Amino acid sequence: MNQTKKKFIKDADNIVFDEKHRKTLNFNISKYDKSFFKALDRYSNLELAKQRASYIKGNAINHLYDYLIEFEKNISSHGVKVLWAEDGKEAIDYVGKILKEHKAKLVVKSKSMISEELEFNKNIEKMGVQSLETDLGEYIVQQAGEKPYHIVTPAMHKSKEDVAELFHKKFNLPLNSTPQDIAKYVRNYLRDKYVKADVGVTGANFLIADIGGIALTENEGNAILTCSFPKVHIVIAGIEKVIPSVKDIGLLWPLLSAHGTGQKITVYDSIITGPKKKNENDGPEEMYVILLDNKRTNLYKHDDQYVALKCIRCGACLNECPIYKNIGGYTYGVTYTGPIGSVISPFYNGFKDYHHLSYACSVCGRCTEVCPVKIPLHRLILDNRRDAVNKKYEPWIWNIGMKIFEKVFMHRKYVDIVNGTFKNLFSHRLYALGKKKSMPTFAKHSFSSQWKKNK
Ligand code: SF4
Repeated sequence: MNQTKKKFIKDADNIVFDEKHRKTLNFNISKYDKSFFKALDRYSNLELAKQRASYIKGNAINHLYDYLIEFEKNISSHGVKVLWAEDGKEAIDYVGKILKEHKAKLVVKSKSMISEELEFNKNIEKMGVQSLETDLGEYIVQQAGEKPYHIVTPAMHKSKEDVAELFHKKFNLPLNSTPQDIAKYVRNYLRDKYVKADVGVTGANFLIADIGGIALTENEGNAILTCSFPKVHIVIAGIEKVIPSVKDIGLLWPLLSAHGTGQKITVYDSIITGPKKKNENDGPEEMYVILLDNKRTNLYKHDDQYVALKCIRCGACLNECPIYKNIGGYTYGVTYTGPIGSVISPFYNGFKDYHHLSYACSVCGRCTEVCPVKIPLHRLILDNRRDAVNKKYEPWIWNIGMKIFEKVFMHRKYVDIVNGTFKNLFSHRLYALGKKKSMPTFAKHSFSSQWKKNK
């Protein structure tokens, strides 16, 4: 068994029995659920909205090259420098060069999962530049020395008491500080940082090809401040973020907020088309867009799984996943977690080492049901399992075991060769459901054998 799989099983085994973790996660997700279902009710024809969104993203992915070139041409005409990065190292090297050119000492950053892929903060700090998270959830996990727990809600694993305790330890705030007190404290602290920062870094929710623009959606106003106060704005975005037209935004933005946070529309929605012009007062003097591949083209090559590139990172599939709700975000050991993570992470992080994530699924299909762009997630998870079997990534003992399992359970007569007493002895000794879970007890004689005898 490879090390990543071993670690996954060990971590999962520990966390599922952590009652505090489960309580916090369930409480936070139940809050989300309430707003989520209300937000969906606002659609008179949700299915049609999802079909259209799926078509828009599908069309963008199927013509990825053309739309990216169109995006580059149009945004470059507004004075933005576009840089293409094949992997994380190349992207970080680009950022390093820009920081050096501007003698940067402080970077402010808004929430972006792609920066997690690049281990942005760690790599920037190695260059002697401070990188400060400005999204409240991200700021909390940065102060705790942790990574985001969820693609939309980074501090989902923390209760308000946990956060108050953290801010008490770090900043001497009263132990009974409310979320409002903490938000006020962080807001005041960050205001000064926006003004002093040399460079602002954001991701992009969408790259708009026809107008050459970056779409950013957020609730705190920190992304607007991040890209308008500092003199330099760097956008780092995955190549799959491109959409054909600004006209698509009217459908995609509300769908993203309804599925991401249960809102009708997020509080601040901006389309940025370049650095400030001569007659403008606000905005950066220079703007860069780094278009990152980082193995997305590896996923793109796969006839079935490539549709996962349609993902708009709303996080709904995580919130509805029974596995995520029990094992949480860190157990996956990768940037993208939950059902979408189980599909794409093996392609981004190495299929051999991470295909086991595709087994972290009960195939209930709830993720597919909630996905706003209709990605058939549970089917893609099965496709990953199929590929792992075809590539012979499972150990031979596992393959033989599965063959025996298939043979026995396809035929009732084999299951009934032994009676309940033997089955109980066997299953209890093997800890078929793990050491912390009790096995159900088999009846002495199976239903079918009793039926045959008594009818
Ligand atoms: S796969 Fe679908 S539900 Fe999951 S994060 Fe992406 S868009 Fe949202």
